[in-house]
Amino acid sequence: MPYGYHGKILHVDLSAGELRVEEPEEAFYRRYVGGSALGLYYLLRGTPAGADPLGPENTLVLALSPLTGAPISGQSRMTAVAKSPLTGAVGDSQCGGFFPAELKFAGFDAVVIRGRADAPLYLWIHDGRAELRQAQHLWGKVTGEVEGVIRSEVGDEKAQVLQVGPAGERLVRFAALINMSNRANGRTGMGAVMGSKNLKAVVVRGKDRPVLADRRALIELARWGAENFKDSDVYGLGLYGTAEIVTSQDKAGGLPTRNWSSGTFEGAAALDGTTMARTILKERDTCYACTVRCKRVVQVADGPHPVDPRYGGPEYETVATFGSYCGIDDLQAVAYANQLCNMYGMDTISCGATIAWAMDCFEQGILTRQDTDGVELRFGQAEAMIAMVEKIAHREGFGDLLAEGSARAAERIGRGAQDLVVAVKGQELPAHMPQVKRSLALIYAANPFGADHQSSEHDSSWRYYPERMAEIGIRDEPVSGKVLNEAKARYALTTQYAYSCMDTVNVCQFVFGPAWHLYSMGQLAQAVRAITGWQVEVEDLLRLGERRLNLLRAFNAREGIDREADTLPKKLQQALVGGKSDGLYVTSEEVERAKDWYYALAGWDVASGTPTRSKLEALELSWVADALGLA
Ligand code: SF4
Repeated sequence: MPYGYHGKILHVDLSAGELRVEEPEEAFYRRYVGGSALGLYYLLRGTPAGADPLGPENTLVLALSPLTGAPISGQSRMTAVAKSPLTGAVGDSQCGGFFPAELKFAGFDAVVIRGRADAPLYLWIHDGRAELRQAQHLWGKVTGEVEGVIRSEVGDEKAQVLQVGPAGERLVRFAALINMSNRANGRTGMGAVMGSKNLKAVVVRGKDRPVLADRRALIELARWGAENFKDSDVYGLGLYGTAEIVTSQDKAGGLPTRNWSSGTFEGAAALDGTTMARTILKERDTCYACTVRCKRVVQVADGPHPVDPRYGGPEYETVATFGSYCGIDDLQAVAYANQLCNMYGMDTISCGATIAWAMDCFEQGILTRQDTDGVELRFGQAEAMIAMVEKIAHREGFGDLLAEGSARAAERIGRGAQDLVVAVKGQELPAHMPQVKRSLALIYAANPFGADHQSSEHDSSWRYYPERMAEIGIRDEPVSGKVLNEAKARYALTTQYAYSCMDTVNVCQFVFGPAWHLYSMGQLAQAVRAITGWQVEVEDLLRLGERRLNLLRAFNAREGIDREADTLPKKLQQALVGGKSDGLYVTSEEVERAKDWYYALAGWDVASGTPTRSKLEALELSWVADALGLA
């Protein structure tokens, strides 16, 4: 068994009620390593082309890496992959917290889940053993309550629970997987997939820590991180959380406001992480063994929206989607919406952005109170926003339509509602604007699982971190954030490989990365060497990222999703109003041109944007080329 692994993959067939343990060869781990790439291996093999994402044929994989649970910051991450019910394309989402490390200590490198149980179950994994337990009594209950009941049933207060809330049970298309009642595999609807399988939770506990190749070298690196954290660019993240960037985003004209009509919001200061620290912050929280402690715990004792600290606190994306996207400057209301999403198990980005889109439709007269169950769904109305979160989670009235996501809902409504959707491949955009960070115009369009802000490095890092950029081979003169030329396409693709690698070795992108992060890519290679004993350099990490990106792209190609789906929403072609980004917009011509460069640089077929046989073979993925029927 290779260092850093258990050498065991747990396979769960819910239809048959069977559990099986696979013990792959070291060569398998070397090629797929962990996280997303390892998950995609099982997804591509286990899910037939054209499968219903909410049917028993869809394969849900929960995957760790050799780093998970090791004594260094930023390693407690888990990737969930499956076919996405939101996009119909590949689904891929990461979480942090204590669940990933505990799953590792429970004795497995990944869990592969197929089929559908006849009645609700939960999976209890402990000390290298696994069993399915009845969960009918937990169905319909919110996450905080379920966590308490399960811990007392398994007799261990330290058991970690990954679960679907009522939204996942009701197949809300952007339902999340929730652990600790406040950490999420938020994006691409992985909660709906688990809910469709009648699997309420995966519960883990154990003490089995894999042997590391060079423990002393890893401890030395961890010590370096602890000593240098205060002088690093992630120190503010620890103090004020991810919402510390609200004000700077606003000043740059990059804070999406009123469904992306503007990049500046007059209420930005009220939503900023420093305001949160002064007002509702109870304490900082962390993921297993992480020194950064960027997670927020907020508390609101009185008023119409009490917030229970067990449900954590809002991230930047959540503050933006329920705040500026909806024109709302009430931080307590935003924190309450965050709590509802964690209780019911929903992605805060898609939920908030879908409500903002509906508000835009209401303001434009496309929707009226007759459509919205009598709710005056206008920008700035916090009560209306909260009412919609409740309705979506319960699929009640108008919420049943919003639970389909903005793209599907718009298609059903018609009357110009599609022109206001801000989504790619059906997934709502996160809160970073391509109008001021032009590389994201390309990455949002081309990313296989829909628009994502953590799939590449944003534009300004090129200028500010030249040494770290050189480490991944970017040595050209930096290009302005407002330009999308061939050099920018190369920057986008190269940094996408780096981020893709981080989702494969499954590390936190606030701790490791190619720019402002605590640890550089070179130090990530050191960590992988210390844990596995493999002679890994930065170029090997980039190749891992490239392999994973090709697997993602291959899944979509098999589904018939290709270049045509790599487009930005119309709304981004309209000029923004106000602030520093006043008048800025993205054109479809510049995106199409950038796609030509990007596909060519990636070694894909430029006409279709799909991987070629020669590229897949170069990445030791000839079985994928065979599966795609490539000549
Ligand atoms: S930086 Fe924040 S999200 Fe990342 S591992 Fe540390 S505490 Fe968790």
